Parts: sequence; C-alpha cells; structure tokens
Amino acid sequence: MLKVYRILLEPNLQILQSVNVFLIEGEEPILIDSGYQESVGQLSIKLDEIGFKLRDISMIINTHEHLDHFGGNAVIKETSRAKVAAHELAIPLMEDMRKQLPSEKHLKGLPDVIVEYARMRSSIYENLKTAKVDVKLKEGDFIKVGDLFLEVLHTPGHAPGHICLYERENRILFAGDMITEKGTPFVDCLHGNIGNFIKSLERLHTLEIDRAFLSHGGEITEVRERIGEILQRELVIEQKLLEILKNGEKEFSELVEEVYGGKGFPYFTYNSVLAHLLKLRDENLLKVEKKAGKFVISLL
Ligand SMILES: [Zn+2]
Ligand SMILES: [Zn+2]
Repeated sequence: MLKVYRILLEPNLQILQSVNVFLIEGEEPILIDSGYQESVGQLSIKLDEIGFKLRDISMIINTHEHLDHFGGNAVIKETSRAKVAAHELAIPLMEDMRKQLPSEKHLKGLPDVIVEYARMRSSIYENLKTAKVDVKLKEGDFIKVGDLFLEVLHTPGHAPGHICLYERENRILFAGDMITEKGTPFVDCLHGNIGNFIKSLERLHTLEIDRAFLSHGGEITEVRERIGEILQRELVIEQKLLEILKNGEKEFSELVEEVYGGKGFPYFTYNSVLAHLLKLRDENLLKVEKKAGKFVISLL
C-alpha cells in the first residue's frame, strides 16, 4: 500500500489559491507537485513535522505546467538531489513560462476581462525561477514506487501537459487539477481546451478509483460520482448556450449574462462561456463575428 501524506500549502498572496502537494513515503521519497516557489519554506517545515527532510526528496513528479504545481521545483533542486519529471508537452512550457502566455496579437480583440487577467498572470510569471526537467513522461509510462507502479495518464484540457497518476492495484488516483472537491475545475480559455478536458474526464470516469487525491480540496472516495457531476455541469453550460442561440444571434456579454444570470466572478463566467464557444466553434456548430467592435455569436 502507498503511504501518502497530503501537505497543504497556503501562499501569502491572496490572489493565489492554496494547493496540496503529496509525499509518497519510501526509500526514495517522491513528491507529487512542488507548490509555489514562495511556499518552499512552508513545505520544508511541514515535511519536518512528519519526519522528512526536503533534501531527501528523490523525485518531483509534476502533474502539469501551472505555477501552483511546479513553482517550487528550482528551489527544491538547489537543496536536494531531486529529479524532476513531467509530461513531454509540459516541459517546454515549464522551462520557459513565457511560452504559456498568449501574445499581444492573440489577446487583441478578446473581451477586456480576459485580457486583464492574462496580463496580470504574465506579471506573476515573470519572476519565477525555472529548473530543467530531467525525466520526460508520456501516456502509458510507469514510475516504480516500492513494489507498486504509478501509471502516467495523459489528461490534457486543463493544461496541454496535464497528467494524472494511477495506482491500479489499490485504485488510487492523483488527480492534479482534473477533479475538484466542489464546483468545476477552471479551464483557461487561452491556455486550456474544454473539449479535451471533457474527453479526459470521460476517460477518468471509466476507471476503477477508490481514492482520489486532489490538488485543490482533499481526498475523495466517491470519485465516479464527482466526475459525473463535473461532466454534467459542463454539459449544462453547453446546452444552455445552444438553446439561447437557437433564438438568434447574441452579443458575447449578453450570452454570459443569460447563461450565468449575472452570478459569479466576471472573469470566471466570461472565461467559461468563451471556452465553450471555442469548443463549439471547433465543432462547426457556431460562428463568432466581430460587428461594430463587439463579438456576435450565431449558430451555423
Ligand atoms: Zn492547474
Ligand atoms: Zn492548480
């Protein structure tokens, strides 16, 4: 059986979310994700409390290329012999974070709330120390942990290089950001892909999972039900969009207003609607046009 410790890291900056990293006990302790760069001190203290030292970490496996999951890599590598492993698509985006940021050209013409958020994110990314990734992972790889194996499942959508780690014998999943305890995981319309996210979740839905360790939240046991709820919520948004558009073209912010009824933090609601619109556009179900400086969406 895997002995897993959940370590909650709470950053000082209010705009940043708390995140869990997981330590797997063994002769060669493994860390799943490394948290924020600024949280490494906190991680070191919390490891001491459970009888481990940061310098003893032999490997960090990053679930994906977001700064709450791999930000600590460089600092941990300086104080330990840890090797870093990540999915092959995540590696270039982790070694040079500028590659994750949309270009000004890409942002041109997008709704203001999306552009403001993207610029704010760029400013956070600029100060991050990055580290070389040592081990390139891909779908179907196995990582030996004592007598057991963690299977690499490539689950793109939340991020292109997102992986989940599955221990088949004891039906344990390290879910990264694919599953949250409440609500739905955030899928950034600029960097993520909601269509891929849904496909990846559908795949996880078919697996036998007794325990899932979540990066945001805790540990859950009713895993299939939770995945089903997330899928259902995404489906409802998509159906609402299509239903509204049946009555004729709509301007983007009107569409957000109708889908969310004025509730929710604007960046999240705008992002969610835009992510779904991009998916439906890729499926040739609708078109997005710019009329008098505004986005107008209509069914095809
Ligand atoms: Zn993430
Ligand atoms: Zn996250």
